Amino acid sequence: MDISYIINELAEDRENYFNAVVPPIIQSSNFAFKTVDEMRHAFADEYATYLYSRGLNPTVDILRKKLAALDNADDCLVFNSGAAAIFAAVLANVKSGDHIVSVNKPYTWAQRMFNQILPRFGVTTSYIDGRDIENFERAILPNTTVIYLESPNSWDYAIQDLKAVAELAKAENIVTIADNSYCTPIYQKPLDFGIDLALQSATKYIGGHSDTVAGVLCGGKEMMGRIFNSEFMNIGSGLSPFNAWLIIRGLRTLPMRLERISQTTQQVVNYLKQHEKVEAVIFPFDENFPQYELARQQMQGACGLLTFIIKAHTVEEVETFCNSLQHILMAVSWGGHESLIIPRCSGIPSKNFNAQKTEHRMIRLYVGLEEPEYLIKDLERGFEKMN
Ligand SMILES: *Cc1c(COP(=O)(O)O)cnc(C)c1O
Repeated sequence: MDISYIINELAEDRENYFNAVVPPIIQSSNFAFKTVDEMRHAFADEYATYLYSRGLNPTVDILRKKLAALDNADDCLVFNSGAAAIFAAVLANVKSGDHIVSVNKPYTWAQRMFNQILPRFGVTTSYIDGRDIENFERAILPNTTVIYLESPNSWDYAIQDLKAVAELAKAENIVTIADNSYCTPIYQKPLDFGIDLALQSATKYIGGHSDTVAGVLCGGKEMMGRIFNSEFMNIGSGLSPFNAWLIIRGLRTLPMRLERISQTTQQVVNYLKQHEKVEAVIFPFDENFPQYELARQQMQGACGLLTFIIKAHTVEEVETFCNSLQHILMAVSWGGHESLIIPRCSGIPSKNFNAQKTEHRMIRLYVGLEEPEYLIKDLERGFEKMN
């Protein structure tokens, strides 16, 4: 399907709403029936009927159809957060006594679920370095039901060979779930590699304006129907019609924002790489990235998230750099219009800072929609203040 068609037309039945160019926000909790028989049909299959907006809602459906098409999926469910999409996807595929294989350092709240919630119900998780397929082979147990991936990982950008992992999992009857927040389906479609469920935080690139928290889960018809009728309805964290409308609006400009961000990021990477105060830049589309070839094979783009290691002897130097920036904001999240940094040392007490540890000198940078020169000037200001 043509991407312009998906983004501009698919699922928008304008004749049903006065030929308005922009779809209405159907802000209604419930939907009425004319006959008992109609109501009976709705009760029998809520996955196919507008009955109550915790289930299906017409504004939300427009978004679901577009996102499913972008991911080459049969269906999509949208959630109030990426974390809710992760929770529903995993919960739907484990029972007491089951085992999960996850890549190292998955998204914080995926990790919390694996470490704190699921063990209470007898579900255990093994973490592995997902860069080597043999680590998956070794970690799989007879009771493994889920392999959890995040490629690239949003902290260290470690990449998994999606096709190889999907083949291995299929042979063992294991469900594969991939967090695709880094690439979005514009730059990587996990289902095309044989992955069962692709998810992402739409808070990031799809929303794109740092004003909405949302999550996306895409997969095959049968799996999605099962998740809808249990976890989705029970957790009750489906996206609201208004937030769906905002995400549809974000979607209109997604490809061009990603293109622009990719270009700016390349310029910022080039700047950082030649800087005397920068030890290294970690970015999947940089030739020095250890998995560069796999990144190029699997991903059509890498967008704006990267990490650089600053040359510093003290925590004060790192802090001076960060505190001196005037335009790049210090904040969590990414994918919006605004550039952001998170210094790793903000996650540890400053007395524990050890300049020998490269992690302590890592700064995650998200490159937004500003002019490249504007960002580079701001970074230069930070480096100069360190002297
Ligand atoms: C932000 C993020 C999530 C969680 O999404 P929310 O919308 O914040 O719940 C999941 N995975 C990755 C990689 C993320 O960056």
